[in-house]
Amino acid sequence: MKRLITVNRLINVSSADPDDARRRQLLNILLIGVGIIAFLGIVAIGVASVIGALGGEDAVRLLSGLSIALLGFILLFLINRYVSGTLAGALFVAFLIAVIGFSDDPQMVVEGRTLFLFAIPILVASVVLPSWGSFIAAGLSSVLIAVIAISIRPGYVPPLPTMFGFFAIALVAWLSARSLENALQELRAINAELDQRVEDRTRELREANAQLAEANEHLRELDRLKSRFVSMVSHELRTPLTGIQGFAEMIQAEVYGPISDQQDKALKRILVNTTQLISIVNDLLDQARIEAGQLSIRYESFSPHALADDLHSTMLLLAKAHNLTLETEVAPDVPEYLVGDRHRLHQILVNLINNAIKFTKEGGIELIFYRPDEENWAFDVIDTGPGIPEDSVADIFEPFRQLDGSSTRRHKGVGLGLAIVKQLVELMEGSIIVESELGKGTTFTVTLPIVNARMEDDA
Ligand code: ADP
Repeated sequence: MKRLITVNRLINVSSADPDDARRRQLLNILLIGVGIIAFLGIVAIGVASVIGALGGEDAVRLLSGLSIALLGFILLFLINRYVSGTLAGALFVAFLIAVIGFSDDPQMVVEGRTLFLFAIPILVASVVLPSWGSFIAAGLSSVLIAVIAISIRPGYVPPLPTMFGFFAIALVAWLSARSLENALQELRAINAELDQRVEDRTRELREANAQLAEANEHLRELDRLKSRFVSMVSHELRTPLTGIQGFAEMIQAEVYGPISDQQDKALKRILVNTTQLISIVNDLLDQARIEAGQLSIRYESFSPHALADDLHSTMLLLAKAHNLTLETEVAPDVPEYLVGDRHRLHQILVNLINNAIKFTKEGGIELIFYRPDEENWAFDVIDTGPGIPEDSVADIFEPFRQLDGSSTRRHKGVGLGLAIVKQLVELMEGSIIVESELGKGTTFTVTLPIVNARMEDDA
């Protein structure tokens, strides 16, 4: 590859005119070619004279001829590279004509076997000189033949049909060189237009990108403001709500005096509604904290068995209220103790079980803790509810996304539960997947890495 680049650098000549550069490159190739032939000729003659196959005088004559030719080629190469391609081309063509003109018996040159060789410089001229160069070469060849013809025999008429033939060859060579130049010119124009188009498109794209980045930044800013606003409002709402809850509980506990059955019923309604409101406000606050990157996971040692028992006793009442069964199971290979954020795990499970209860009409819910492999532990929340359509599975984890978004829907909630669950699971470096069959039920599977105790220390 490197060698190819060096050869290219030797052959290529930079020029403002691309046609000139192309011609100079071709001339360089020709010169290097004939130079190598001359060099090999010198070597061959040297070898032949050493082994005695060539007479001393002949060898000297040939050697000096070839050496002069080689030096000439090197000189032309340098002129072509550093001075002018047209000058070098013209000298090379003139050299070829001269060599052919004096290479044979003058009679043969004028009307014999050597005549057709003049086609070579004419064709070479159309390649290494501007296209009209072939006519000059035809003219020079004709003049040389005329001079030789007259010098052999004064009054001798030069071979006019042959000269006419030279010009015919020059015409064909000129035509092909012209059409090549035109085609290349068109190609260059197309290339330039394409370059321009690419440049325009790149600029447009860069501008569009910059606009997009600006819009993105604006959106991010809006998002930050929204999160801050939600966080602030939720905070402000939570304090009075917990106040209302506390006072209602105290009134219900008859701290301020006895209450009637009717008052007790009303207080129960107040408490149910306040608890619901507090849970929504908590969800909003969690979502805002997660979005702002302010929610971190606390690693501590906990017992999965105790967690399962705790959940069972917390959620059983609700399940029973919906005429559903609730079963919890911890597989024997689940470690006695795990490291993780017990509070957040409880929140994830309450959310999933709550949903399962909320959407299931009959049957039951199962919670199973197990160990899918050496590195992970997992839990499944399985229900016998209505299932989730396949094309909605990806959507349900988006904040505020509900499959039934209408205001008349039967189930309560703001559509934040699963979004928070997913984000919490991801903060714990775990994953959540859903498998569901319409009319049969849904299984949410959360898989979490078994964290070693070192992380607990780090946290
Ligand atoms: P919310 O329960 O407040 O509507 P979630 O984020 O918890 O919000 O759930 C989003 C949606 O996913 C729900 O509205 C419901 O359509 C669907 N969904 C969640 N869990 C289940 C489930 N176990 N069975 C059927 N659909 C479910």
